[in-house]
Amino acid sequence: MKPSNRIASITNGGFDGWEIFYKARQMISSGTDVTELSIGEHDIGTDPAILKSMNEAALNGHTGYALVPGIEELRSLVANKTEKKTGIRTTLENVIITPGGQSALFAAHMAVLDQGDTAAYIDPFYATYPTTIRSVGAIERKIITSAENYFQPTFEQLDSATKKTKSLLINSPNNPTGMVYNEATIKSICDVAKKNDLWIISDEVYDTQIWAGKHISPREIENMTERTLVVGSLSKSHAMTGSRLGWLLGPKEVIDKAIDLATNMTYGVPGFIQHAGIFALEQGKKFEEKISWPFNRRRKLALDILNDFPNLEHIPPQGAMYVMLNIRTTGMSGTSFAHKLLDAEKIAVMPGESFGEAASGHVRISLTLADKKFEETFRRICKFASNLSVL
Ligand code: PLP
Repeated sequence: MKPSNRIASITNGGFDGWEIFYKARQMISSGTDVTELSIGEHDIGTDPAILKSMNEAALNGHTGYALVPGIEELRSLVANKTEKKTGIRTTLENVIITPGGQSALFAAHMAVLDQGDTAAYIDPFYATYPTTIRSVGAIERKIITSAENYFQPTFEQLDSATKKTKSLLINSPNNPTGMVYNEATIKSICDVAKKNDLWIISDEVYDTQIWAGKHISPREIENMTERTLVVGSLSKSHAMTGSRLGWLLGPKEVIDKAIDLATNMTYGVPGFIQHAGIFALEQGKKFEEKISWPFNRRRKLALDILNDFPNLEHIPPQGAMYVMLNIRTTGMSGTSFAHKLLDAEKIAVMPGESFGEAASGHVRISLTLADKKFEETFRRICKFASNLSVL
């Protein structure tokens, strides 16, 4: 017996971008001391106060089935926070709580695409984008940006790629590039969405990590609210990656259908996790800054170190928890470089190729080590790249 073609074609059994990560984990489990700067996970665990509220919620009985769309208080908190930030009227009926942003990405694509429809996304991209699109039975269409244009798509690129697509997935602040889409890019995205009648799926899971520029959600642009679905999560903003707590936000008619999907797939998110989410969101901006600020500090450390290595090109990240280092002067691909770095220096970073074509010849370095250790490791990476550099 064979699995369905739909599920078999999710990865096509091929390269899924995580090879280096698995190799590093294998080395660690066989006793090698590897410094990991490969995944997007904080170097701290979830705050003990959040865990305490989770524990108390469980002990107070929130261990049964929770409401499938999410606890109303949490949906309202997410809605209010969004309305306050964007000025766009948002109620709990615009929100479904999901097990993490990834589940919301899947639900969003399920909600707007039929089997065989084409769905666009922007390269470089977060590793699961093409596979999420394939998971829902749609055909992926990537829009390749360039480092020269700061990895932001142009109107022409967007327009020509989406004439026959039904949706466009964007991510700002961006993983892996750290770019925050500027006003002109957001305008192009919205203009093209209206011109080509697209759904915009806006992945905003890094929206509390802005170091330069301003985060603009396409949902807040005129005539965009009814065609935009926003993906959010507490994973990055509150160091709650393992709690699996996120949301999809959009027009009520779509959220109602996403609730039907959840009824038949996840059957909601555990109540004690949602109560911890309520507690986390109630801590406000100060708490979010406590979680996000170390990344900005390390970003500055990285940029200072890069001043000593003029042959290593980079675009200063404006948001999120990564630095993309251009290693093209070594003449190597990001993948070969990452393998060599892991073998020689026992440092794991993600090859740019894991995130598509546009980021080839780059590596993504996570800002996820205590400052001193990060500084020392980042300098070692730069030295290693610089010594291999043929320029
Ligand atoms: N979107 C982006 C751009 C990400 O980088 C990630 C995780 O790394 C996710 C979505 C998924 O986050 P989660 O499912 O933990 O909320």
